[in-house]
Amino acid sequence: MCGIFGYISHPSLKLRNGKQTGDAAKIIFDGLKRLEYRGYDSWGIAVKDQGKITLEKHVGRIGQAKVNLPKSSLGIGHTRWATHGGVTVANAHPHLDCTGQIAVVHNGIVENFQDLKNELTRKGHKFISETDTEVIPHLIEEFLKKEGFASAVRDTFNRLKGLNAIVVTSAVSPEIIAAKNGSPLVAGIGKEEFFIASDATGIVKHTKKVVFIEDNQMVVLGKSLKLVTLPKGQEIKPVFHDIDWKFEETKKGKFKHYFLKEIYEQPKVLENVVLNQRQNLRKLAGLIDKARGTFLLGCGTASYAALAGTYLFSKLAKKHINYSVGSEFSYLQDFVTPKTLVIPISQSGETIDIVQPVQEVQKKGATIAAITNVLGSTLYRQADYKFLLDAGPEKSVAGTKSFTSMISVLLLTAYILAGAEEDGKRLLLAAAKNLRSMFQVKNINKIKRLARKISRSEHMYLIGRGLSYPAAIEATLKIKEISYIHAEGFAGAELKHGVIALIEKGTPCIIFAPNDETYEEIISNAEELKARGGFIIGIGSKNNNVFNVWLETKDIKEATIIPQVVYAQLLAYYLALERGVEDPDKPRNLAKSVTVK
Ligand code: GLU
Repeated sequence: MCGIFGYISHPSLKLRNGKQTGDAAKIIFDGLKRLEYRGYDSWGIAVKDQGKITLEKHVGRIGQAKVNLPKSSLGIGHTRWATHGGVTVANAHPHLDCTGQIAVVHNGIVENFQDLKNELTRKGHKFISETDTEVIPHLIEEFLKKEGFASAVRDTFNRLKGLNAIVVTSAVSPEIIAAKNGSPLVAGIGKEEFFIASDATGIVKHTKKVVFIEDNQMVVLGKSLKLVTLPKGQEIKPVFHDIDWKFEETKKGKFKHYFLKEIYEQPKVLENVVLNQRQNLRKLAGLIDKARGTFLLGCGTASYAALAGTYLFSKLAKKHINYSVGSEFSYLQDFVTPKTLVIPISQSGETIDIVQPVQEVQKKGATIAAITNVLGSTLYRQADYKFLLDAGPEKSVAGTKSFTSMISVLLLTAYILAGAEEDGKRLLLAAAKNLRSMFQVKNINKIKRLARKISRSEHMYLIGRGLSYPAAIEATLKIKEISYIHAEGFAGAELKHGVIALIEKGTPCIIFAPNDETYEEIISNAEELKARGGFIIGIGSKNNNVFNVWLETKDIKEATIIPQVVYAQLLAYYLALERGVEDPDKPRNLAKSVTVK
């Protein structure tokens, strides 16, 4: 995970918008704020100042912090999501070598760091952190004894095992050098300046002209941009892209948190899909129709959307679609042939547990039709066919509108495949209407009251059958992520195969009871829970005696999954507030874009 941001303006070209260039620390600080969704346990910036490296590192979120570094034309920064070593100032990036002249920021895991550390320790290097990253500046220091800066970085990177991206600067070189294999990097080309970052969101404010650094490439940013291949270092021509993104300064507006704001954006997201996605989705339906074997892949929230997709395609289009969580797909791909269609779904388009298996099956000739929210992301660039969710930037780490957009894209595609596109569109518009009525004050107050009542619970159980099963597990994830209450979701009948032992008097149980073929049986399951003391919260279009609390949805067939999950999003949010969770937009230990394995 982690966000990387580097900046260099060429000292001989000092003008930027008519003003003097060179406040690297300020530009990097601002860039890191935009990248903070990628990791936020600690952060740091190093700049080159009068021939030496000066750095500042902090534990915690950037928040309202200020940076206190000298003005400089060159620097690198990092916002961390720890993999190796606790959250401490010493472990925060950038990391330095023994001389303090080489600074490195890193995204990924150096899998062979222990061997490298032993080797470097034997040679007399002193380590001050517990990170895997720290071997990198020391290794560069070693190589620098016999070669120049660029070759030393290249030879160092070639010795790293795992999926990594690094950005390096040195007190004695007027350059920033970056290399990558796995983790994302993009270079921005300004007028007399260059940027390098984990993704373009940090860059678009400054320039729209970028070069996406691909795996096994190294870029040297100095007077010009030089791109070379790894491991050998052969120079190649960079491909410049003009990215057509608006610089979206998303603000919370009247909302206290992005999480809530993005919940309220969901009706618009649904309407967007209906208005703007039809052509694209007809194309996707065509690909599914002609494939011999289709796999939907996702991680976390996207995996539940993918699972829901299997129910939707089976029920509506009579199509068997396979499903796998991204990280397990490597062990399931013996079935993949050149006729297979793989549909990876990822909000960020950077999730390494998706990107990597997709690369593997691409080598086997499978067709990749990626669904992502981020234009230009790794997955977007990797795919043969690209489908954008168009849900707008999602700032809250826990996904809300991205889930709804994924579900609506899959639902409409399934309806198109079934030859009933108009019905699909009608249902999505009805779902948008349903959400708007759910957002009325009276209903929100009801959810708040419920949150107050159950906020001290230690555990919660959620059940659904059929399409309501993925709804139950996505709902569970929201409650865990945002409120930190332990919640588990099950297929309706499964709870009684063991877990029902955990139900005690007052245990909150959420029952997804839509008006479909699952209704009678899920109500029986609710009765079983109530008989053991469960406090029953029913979500559906019909009230029932077994419910202690009823949260009403409209009867909108398969689209009911949308209000079902949105109820859970709202409940999770108000539970978080009741429990005094510090920042529901950035839950502890999480990051939005998961780029380490
Ligand atoms: N493995 C490195 C660390 O734990 C980098 C993690 C990251 O990508 O943020 O510091």
